[in-house]
Amino acid sequence: MMNVKNGTILLLGVLLFTGCGRAETNVVDVTRVISALASDEMRGRQAFTPDAMNAANFIGSEFESIGLSKLAGDSDFIQDFPLYTVTTDSVTVSINGKVVSPDMVAASVSTDSLQWMEGADVTPAFVGAADDLLAVWRSNRSAPNTLLIVHPDQKDTFDQIAGFLRRPSRSMKVEGGSNLVMVLSSAATVQTFSVNVTAMISEQNIANVVGVIPGKRADEIVVFSAHYDHLGVRRGAEPDSIYNGANDDASGTTAVIELARYFKSNGTPERTIYFVAFTAEESGGYGSRHFSETVNPDQIVAMFNIEMIGKPAVEGRNTAWITGFDRSDFGTILQEAVEGTVFGFYPDPYPDQNLFYRSDNATLARLGVPAHSISTTPIDVDADYHQASDEVSTLDLEHMTNTIKAIATGAVTIISGEKTPTRIDPSSVN
Ligand SMILES: [Zn+2]
Repeated sequence: MMNVKNGTILLLGVLLFTGCGRAETNVVDVTRVISALASDEMRGRQAFTPDAMNAANFIGSEFESIGLSKLAGDSDFIQDFPLYTVTTDSVTVSINGKVVSPDMVAASVSTDSLQWMEGADVTPAFVGAADDLLAVWRSNRSAPNTLLIVHPDQKDTFDQIAGFLRRPSRSMKVEGGSNLVMVLSSAATVQTFSVNVTAMISEQNIANVVGVIPGKRADEIVVFSAHYDHLGVRRGAEPDSIYNGANDDASGTTAVIELARYFKSNGTPERTIYFVAFTAEESGGYGSRHFSETVNPDQIVAMFNIEMIGKPAVEGRNTAWITGFDRSDFGTILQEAVEGTVFGFYPDPYPDQNLFYRSDNATLARLGVPAHSISTTPIDVDADYHQASDEVSTLDLEHMTNTIKAIATGAVTIISGEKTPTRIDPSSVN
């Protein structure tokens, strides 16, 4: 990909910004950071690969040089956690003394060895020929222990679900998770049964990156976040097989780093500020799910999740939109804070795309946090979205720099404690 770094501009930037008290966000820093994150060397930052760890280490080193603090008790900025991959190995089931054929059994388990017999902690449930098997499966897939005896007329749907269950599945926890066994059988009653399942469980650490500016109020936290992972390297996309994810979401990650630089140079804030780069947004949202378990959501007064700000919005440059605008008064507070500037914040113009649910903010919103995504991307017409062509050369870095500055301005009254957004009603979030 094209290298947009310019040595002369970089040197000038260093001269201009060294020694100043407040580090105004500028296009030189923005260009350097996004060019590193979206470089071919980062190979598309796919979660579960060493490339994502390279990106995490880069973000951690930026946080270090900015002078951010670590989370209490942490020795570095890397918030790593295990994720488990469970692959079912063998499923053996007998009903009323007869062994069921292997192609008529399927299981998803959260343990490497499972044995059930009649009288144990599972009662068989029957799914008749006219029942909605998909709905029954969906409502039981997170339950502790389920044994479904499925009528043979349901074979097509059974095969569809079984195909899914036979693939490796990811899980944030093993032991105490859910176990589900499905059997295609014409048995009308079950006097005796035995179920034996073995599975292989592998564990892999993945990592968010978290930096902190402690405020005067330790228990009131403002979060700036973005996901740093993208789609990685894909065969069949040659000659350019690297999905650089410059807009999605190296742009948001760059914003988080530059906002950290700006606010760190601004003295001690009233409220504490967290800067979070999430992993695995593109493959299950595991990063934000883990982060949400490490915080008290009641202490998070607002979450600015930044997604794809490298291209001007449909309303033009100097505008950005906010997902779930009506779910809290977060957006209105930002609008008021930038009043009198050239910049404007608007409600998400693509309500049909469900973008409120398509990023890490939704995980925190489910816990009541006013958590919204801020974006400028023309997602309905963007030919580079989730393509190998999502490169820095397609972005408008002046627009992006202005957007980062506007987010900083928009956040001022929330960080100062002057304004506190209304909570999102968790029961309204799917
Ligand atoms: Zn994204």
